[in-house]
Amino acid sequence: MYNDDCIFCKIAQRKIPSDIIYEDDQVVAFKDIQPLAPVHLLVIPKNHLSSVNEVTSEYEGLIGHLFGVIRRLAQEFGVAETGYRVVTNTGADGGQVVGHIHFHLLGGQALEAKIG
Ligand code: AMP
Ligand code: ZN
Repeated sequence: MYNDDCIFCKIAQRKIPSDIIYEDDQVVAFKDIQPLAPVHLLVIPKNHLSSVNEVTSEYEGLIGHLFGVIRRLAQEFGVAETGYRVVTNTGADGGQVVGHIHFHLLGGQALEAKIG
C-alpha cells in the first residue's frame, strides 16, 4: 500500500509534516507547498499508485470516492460556485514530478484558459 521512498506516502502516514486539511481511510488532502493559485490543494489516495497509468478497474470506487472529496473540498474552500480546475499530471511529458498519483485542486482566481 505504501512505498517507503515516496514523499506523498510519507505525508499520508504523517511521517513528514504537511498541512493536511482532510483525511479518511482512503484519501488525504493537503495544501500544495508551492501554491499556484489562492486555493491549491493536492488530493491523493493513501494507496500508492504511481500515476493514472495504474488506475485499473479495481480502483474505480477509490477514484469515485476521491472525486467526492474534491467536490466537498471545493465547497469548503469557497470555489465550487466561482469555479476551479482539477489537474493530474502524468509522466514526463505531462509534467509529473512526484510519482504518487495526485489531483491538484486549483481555484480562487481566474485561471489561464491554456492547457499544455
Ligand atoms: P506534479 O508536477 O503534478 O508532480 O506536482 C507535484 C506538486 O507537489 C507540486 O505542485 C509541488 O509543489 C507539490 N509538493 C511537492 N512536495 C510537497 C510537499 N512536501 N508538501 C506539499 N506539496 C508538495
Ligand atoms: Zn506514494
